[in-house]
Amino acid sequence: MIDINSAWQELRQRVEQCKKCELCKTRHKTVFGEGPTENCKVVFVGEGPGEEEDMTGRPFVGAAGQLLTNILEKGGGILRKSVYIANVVKCRPPNNRDPKENEMLACSEYLEAQLLLLRPQIVVTLGNVPTRWFLKSDKGITNMRGQWLDWRGIKLFPMYHPSYLLRNQSREKGSPKSQTWDDIKALRNKIKELEN
Ligand code: SF4
Repeated sequence: MIDINSAWQELRQRVEQCKKCELCKTRHKTVFGEGPTENCKVVFVGEGPGEEEDMTGRPFVGAAGQLLTNILEKGGGILRKSVYIANVVKCRPPNNRDPKENEMLACSEYLEAQLLLLRPQIVVTLGNVPTRWFLKSDKGITNMRGQWLDWRGIKLFPMYHPSYLLRNQSREKGSPKSQTWDDIKALRNKIKELEN
């Protein structure tokens, strides 16, 4: 039987020492992810670390991260510490550019391994990059968000990336922010449904 704790530790160390792609040259810290590793029902996946994440080694701690916490806790009544938060690539792409295909490919094994160990019931993808990583689809997030999809038997739920919401502040009905408020409530309802 797999010892989950030691497998998790070993994976974390491999990421810390990883030099499989160019991003290792410019990173300060790898950002492995954080959250519960036992009985983890929901995993959020973003695209990659930003500046503050790169300096602290923690995911979603900058302005977008604070907004994500707000959406979770105020919009959905879901404690941030109750979900696992990770990214497709574990090192910061310079100037916050999108990760390149070869970088995502090189890093894929780590996210795959994290999901294998966590075995969540729900994965929430934040924005285009992680949604495409999971679904291998060219469809944009605007067409995918708020839908319950399937990834290897796990419920997959795309939402807007909080950085996108920071650039689109309108709260009018039909705006990305108001759609996100609807999405987080749908997520909360699904979590409750799975608990019953
Ligand atoms: S982004 Fe992933 S594959 Fe590239 S160096 Fe960092 S941990 Fe390794």
